[in-house]
Amino acid sequence: MSKKFAMDFIKKNVLKCEKCSLYKTRIKPVFGEGFLDADIMFIGEAPGKNEDIYGRPFIGRAGKILDEMLDSIGIKRNEVFISNIIKCRPPKNRDPTKDEISICSSYIDKQIEIINPKIIILLGRIAIYYIFNKYKIEIEKINKIHGRVYSINNSKIIPIYHPAAVIYNNKLKEILLEDFKLIKDKI
Ligand code: URA
Repeated sequence: MSKKFAMDFIKKNVLKCEKCSLYKTRIKPVFGEGFLDADIMFIGEAPGKNEDIYGRPFIGRAGKILDEMLDSIGIKRNEVFISNIIKCRPPKNRDPTKDEISICSSYIDKQIEIINPKIIILLGRIAIYYIFNKYKIEIEKINKIHGRVYSINNSKIIPIYHPAAVIYNNKLKEILLEDFKLIKDKI
């Protein structure tokens, strides 16, 4: 089966998904987008306001910072795959619940399987929480583990700060830029 066929199949299911109550308040599910043969896959938390309106990941303020970070290492958005753990916006951008994460996670699991990236970048604590639990990696505070490289199966996992964190604390920008340099070195 081709990657495109497999991804389109999941997309169809995500677009009509009613497995948890988030479908009642979403405008559009955000499936994720990018290059199916990407070496790097970015995994965020959940759609925010703009993502919910347009059905695309990381297109709001956090997305602008992600774009800036990608620019800083000369990588284009269409060379990577960008997705989220949760496909529908939680009301008022609240944290997704454990139930919502466990219900929605089959989609990101399949996306990772299809892309089979060399490097998975976890953007912030919800993505770290899900993937670390899945691979039984001990979860520590992000200020300790950001930029560390973990190996699982065929991929490397690198947890970093969520780009939105920079909006609230500009000092994190330098740290994020450093972590992106490390990502570039690992490709
Ligand atoms: N924050 C996320 O985690 N994902 C998005 O798609 C947008 C903002």
